[in-house]
Parts: sequence; C-alpha cells; structure tokens
Amino acid sequence: MPLLIDPPPADEPRYERSSDGTWVIVSSARLARPLPDRLSSLSGPTICPFCEGNESTTPREVFALRNGTTADTPGWRVRVVPNLYPGVVTTVNGTERDNENSCGGYGRHEVIIERPDHDADILDLPSPHFGNVIEVYQERMKALADDQRIECGVLFKNSGRFAGASQEHVHSQLMGLAILPEHVKKILSHESHVPALLKGHPTVVVNSDHFIAYCPEPSFFPFEVWIAPKDREPDFRNAPPAQFVELGKVMRNILRTLSRMITPLAYNTFLHTAAFDGKKRPFDRWHLKITPRMETLAGCELGAGIYMNPIRPSWAAEQYRKILPQVADEE
Ligand SMILES: [Zn+2]
Repeated sequence: MPLLIDPPPADEPRYERSSDGTWVIVSSARLARPLPDRLSSLSGPTICPFCEGNESTTPREVFALRNGTTADTPGWRVRVVPNLYPGVVTTVNGTERDNENSCGGYGRHEVIIERPDHDADILDLPSPHFGNVIEVYQERMKALADDQRIECGVLFKNSGRFAGASQEHVHSQLMGLAILPEHVKKILSHESHVPALLKGHPTVVVNSDHFIAYCPEPSFFPFEVWIAPKDREPDFRNAPPAQFVELGKVMRNILRTLSRMITPLAYNTFLHTAAFDGKKRPFDRWHLKITPRMETLAGCELGAGIYMNPIRPSWAAEQYRKILPQVADEE
C-alpha cells in the first residue's frame, strides 16, 4: 500500500457491519499485499473539452457562474453541461422517453466543470471558489428536483485513474434518476451518528462551526471521511449557501491531508441527500463522502458485497488530525 506515513499496528481481522448493514472485513494483514503498478497516468485527449476556450466542443451549457459573459464562451468560473456520453437521457431523437416502457433510461446526466484551467489541481482551489462549486451543486440539484419525473439526484466525483476518472480536468457529475435505487433507499432508512460524535469521539477529524468530518466506523475504504452538517437537515437543497465556503475549506483540507498520506491520490466523492418525493425517512443529515481509492474493488467486494479495509477508522482519523493543521492555513 503506497503510504507516506507509518503503517498502523498489526490487528486481528474482524467482520463488522456498517450502519447500513453492509459487511466490512477489517484486516491489517492486507497492508502487506503486493499491488499492481498504479503509477501510469491518464492519457488525456489533445483537445480537452472542459478547458476554457473549447466551449464549442461540449453540448450547450445548462448553467454557469459567469461575470456577464455570454453562454458557451470563455469567461466562466464553474460551468455545467449535459454529459456527452450520458447514462440517462430525457429525449431520444427529439422524442421524450416513455417512462412506462423505459423508466431506467429517463433522467439527466450533467458534468460540472469546476475550474476553467486544465492544470489547476482541486487541492489548490481557494476556499471561496470551492464554495462556488458547492453552490453550483445545490443549484443543479434544485433544478433536477423541479423535474417531476426525477426521483433523486446522484452527485459524484471520480478523481484519478483508480477512481474511474476518464478526464483529468477537475469536474463532478450529477445524475437525476427516474428511480430511487435500493442502495440510496437503504442509506435513507438510517440515521447518522452525528449527534453522538458531537460529544467527542476518536473518529472525528474536523469539528468546524457548522460541520463535522469523521471516519465512519467501520469504513468501506481506507481513510474514508464523511462530512455532515451539525444541524439536522436531510435535504442538501436546504443547506445555507452562507456555509459553503466553510464546507469547501473542510473538504479541500481533507483532500490536501490525503495527498500527504497516500500516493498517487485517487478518490471518489459522493453526496447523499433526501429523495425528491418528500417522504419522511429516518435519514437526518445530507453528507459528503470522500472515499480514497488505493485499490480496485475485487472479487470479495463485488461477489459477496463485503468490503475489506486494512485501516481502522480511529487510526485513520488520528493521522488526519496530525497532518491537517499543517495544510489548513496554506491558501
Ligand atoms: Zn482541460
């Protein structure tokens, strides 16, 4: 495992059940496992469709943060376009999809391009810009919810080859689905542990004015972090935009800390939020998950739905707390 820090002490393997009932095997022995070479970088196209100046190579934008410039031209900070290779669509050859016959196919699949410049890393994103990005997440989530046929919004980021990224340029994806997946239903049927964690717990990484970041116990992935609001709010659409710069700072500092602990840095982020049907469920807080991808999912995870994690969350949290203060003040 490509750690930049000392490994945790050897520990007995354990079966543990996560808050949603999924089994995790915690086994430090897996740290010694030989891994395939992961240093090959992504081979990007010669023209990046997400770069400022290449707006004509994407579908027409559906939203952008601009300073008075015209749509589909340069001069934006964050830009949203339909995915050129969508998983779900609203129309086929100009005809709206029939929800009766192809309910799995109806939906919206958007790309949120988070910076205009290609080489800029998200780790260097100033917190006000990170706040802008989160503002756009919310804006688009609201827009999807306005479509009565869409049941839920799935927001995620794949960063790095091991996390499934196919474009280097920093971006996220948002899918509006005409179904409520079982996986999401399961997540929405559980309360968070936030009220207990707020009393103090070894898995807490950051406790800021309005957010708590922690390593869930057990975690599916090594160094996994969840960021949730302290106040009860299941729907991200209701999150106060005045808190987004703070949230961006927490997120960025966690990613910076990760970059000091694992290499190469690859990770997914997911937003879990209330479904659009307005039903009351136990789910009490929307949250962002950061799942570092140090290994690909293999047979046990895919075949049995059991995750194996060599890193104990309380140990991971301790490492975050040690390193995070060193990166927190770097703008
Ligand atoms: Zn680019």
